[in-house]
Amino acid sequence: MTKLERVRVSPYLTRSSPASQLQSGLENFSPFLYPTPYIYKQPRTSRYDRSKKQQAAPAAHIKMKLHAAVAASLLALAAAASAAGAVTFDATNTASGTPGGRRFDQAVGLGYAKRVLSDASAFIWHTFDQRSTAARKPVAAVTLVVEDIGGVAFTSGDAIHLSARYVGGYPSGGDVRAEVTGVLYHEATHVWQWDGRGAANGGLVEGIADYVRLKSGYAPAHWVKPGQGDRWDQGYDVTARFLDYCASLKPGFVAQLNAKMKDGYSDDFFAQITGKSVQQLWQDYKKYGG
Ligand SMILES: [Zn+2]
Repeated sequence: MTKLERVRVSPYLTRSSPASQLQSGLENFSPFLYPTPYIYKQPRTSRYDRSKKQQAAPAAHIKMKLHAAVAASLLALAAAASAAGAVTFDATNTASGTPGGRRFDQAVGLGYAKRVLSDASAFIWHTFDQRSTAARKPVAAVTLVVEDIGGVAFTSGDAIHLSARYVGGYPSGGDVRAEVTGVLYHEATHVWQWDGRGAANGGLVEGIADYVRLKSGYAPAHWVKPGQGDRWDQGYDVTARFLDYCASLKPGFVAQLNAKMKDGYSDDFFAQITGKSVQQLWQDYKKYGG
């Protein structure tokens, strides 16, 4: 966590919340779709921090009186590792002493969760058409912590936090492993997606995360059907279905949208990619997209 980090925590907003509230970058979620909200905490961007660290690193080496050549080779090694895209995936369960933590260990498991983080990351890079590491967010490690917290999950920086209580409270007849897998695809998207340096519409950020979950095949049955919803930026499944419609008009749409969101955000990105404004697209979607 850094001083530069800006954290967004979702208040308990519903679909009927005024648009002005939802436009303010807060989360929109329906209690009818999720028993508890995804809490979305994301740093503004890690890029500022990283560039600062990179600038500071040589000075630190000089202070430590390491030979300049040694320092240079260490930096070169670090750069090479970064260029090779050496991302590590790790998972821990700090709630193994709770019923939900035990259910996680039994029904999901840390080994499986690590594989999901890896598979989800590859899937996200593919969805965002980020073939080279240079095109991706500079993330060295994606971690999961299963912990005794409320809610469903949240992501802060490169760390995903999953609620053991949510796992424990999931219906006993339900496929809790598939549910956790879907949640991890959603949260892993937050690790990798651009958010317009914090300026992006919060509903869109959540919609992209659920779009990835949709395309991964782990969308739950209780989601809205295509064509449902009141606004394009309602977030989550509503926005995910809408983005799927946009992608049907323009293959690679979500990849292009995410790429544009690297340095800022404008609703006009929709028009730049498809030739139609987001409002026009939403009207078309409500007419023909169901
Ligand atoms: Zn989310």
